[in-house]
Amino acid sequence: MRKKIVAGNWKMNNDFFMTKDLIHSIKSKLNNNFNAEVFISPSFPFLIEAKKNCNNTQINVTAQNINENESGAYTGEVSSSMLKSIGINSVIIGHSERRQYFNENDHILLKKLKKAISEKFKVFFCIGENINERENNNHFDIIEKQLNNTVFKIESFDVNNLIIAYEPIWAIGTGLTASPEQAQEMHFFIREIFKSKYGSKISDNLSIIYGGSVKPSSAKDIFGKKDVDGGLIGGASLRAEDFIDIVNSI
Ligand code: PEP
Repeated sequence: MRKKIVAGNWKMNNDFFMTKDLIHSIKSKLNNNFNAEVFISPSFPFLIEAKKNCNNTQINVTAQNINENESGAYTGEVSSSMLKSIGINSVIIGHSERRQYFNENDHILLKKLKKAISEKFKVFFCIGENINERENNNHFDIIEKQLNNTVFKIESFDVNNLIIAYEPIWAIGTGLTASPEQAQEMHFFIREIFKSKYGSKISDNLSIIYGGSVKPSSAKDIFGKKDVDGGLIGGASLRAEDFIDIVNSI
C-alpha cells in the first residue's frame, strides 16, 4: 500500500533559534496517532541541528535542494554526499521556486534527479502548471511534458523513494487552493500515465501529494480524495499548530 506523507517546506524562513523552537513545538504537539510519514525541510545550515532534534521521533528531515555533481568547484552548492554525511537521505527537487528564480529547467532537474536516485535518496519531485496554462486548459499537457522530460527518462527506480508533488504554481503561496476535485483529477491523470509507463505495481504504490496553500481548513477535503496521498505544505508548515492539524487531517 502506498504511503501517506505530509512534508513541511520551510523555504528560506527561520533562523537557528526559530528553527529549534519550531521543531520543539511540533514535537510537543505531535501525538502518536497520525497516519502519515512526516517530513520537515529547514534550510541547509540547520539540517544537522534539526536532525539531532528529531532523533527518536517520527519526524524526518529533508533537504530543499541538491547539486547534481559529486564534488568540486561549485561555489555555494551542496552535494548528496555532504547531506548523507549528516544523515539526510531525502530531498525536494523541481520546486517551482527553483525553476522560476534559479533557472532550474527540466534538463538540470533530470541530472539532479538521476544523482539523487543513484544515491538512494528519497525524492520529492515537484511538478505543476502556471495560471495561463491552467486557464488555457493546457495543464494536463504541461504535467505530462514535465514528467516526460524528467522522471520518465529514468528506466527504473524504487517507488518507495519517489514522491510526486503536484503543485499548481497558481496555488503556491497565493492562498488559492486547487479544489479537491481539481487535485483528484490531476492526481488520477498522473497515476494513469505512470501506469502506462511503468505498470500498475509502480503506479498503485506511488505516493502523489498535493501542494498549494493547504491549510488546516482545506486539508481534510483534499486528503480525502482517492489519489491524493498527502501534502507538501509551505506557509502553514511554519506554524506548529497548523502543521499538526494538517498532519492529523490524513
Ligand atoms: C510549497 O511551496 O511547496 C507550497 C505548497 O507552499 P504554500 O503551502 O505556502 O502554498
